[in-house]
Amino acid sequence: MNDSDYSELLQRIKRIRETGPNTSNKNDYYVVNTYDLQRIESSFVILHKRSGKIILSLSECYDAIKAAHQRTGHGGRQATTKLLNEKYYNLTQEMVKLFIETCENCQLKRNKTKKGIVVKPIGALACCRATMAENLQTSCFHSGIGRSPYEALYGVKCRDGLNNFPISTEKN
Ligand SMILES: [Zn+2]
Repeated sequence: MNDSDYSELLQRIKRIRETGPNTSNKNDYYVVNTYDLQRIESSFVILHKRSGKIILSLSECYDAIKAAHQRTGHGGRQATTKLLNEKYYNLTQEMVKLFIETCENCQLKRNKTKKGIVVKPIGALACCRATMAENLQTSCFHSGIGRSPYEALYGVKCRDGLNNFPISTEKN
């Protein structure tokens, strides 16, 4: 969810909590049944009602993934996602994957283990945050229309993981 959509939704939840759902607006009922607010220090975050987990805006995703990735000691995709999923509702494994792919520390570690591959100079990685933000934006944007973030980003279906199982196992 991009930042302007997020603050719009947040204001809307606040309004509904104060004045009640607008009877002529069906979406108000959907909003009030789906979301809640939680106060954290001086500001509010949106809560996913059913799961009780926090929904993050796009600009907050980066920092949350970064914190979890560091807390797991530059852990892999699954460990980082697992930690995030305890608290946050809208962070996917694909987003974590995108983050780890641009993590300087992990890139250096990966490259060091491959013989003969020149380690990328740090300077070349300076733009990672911008790239990451762009990638997250793409994945958030497309997550609402039924395509996987990977598919949305690269235009093809992800070929690792579950999608890689043999297509047909039927016996004749
Ligand atoms: Zn890392």
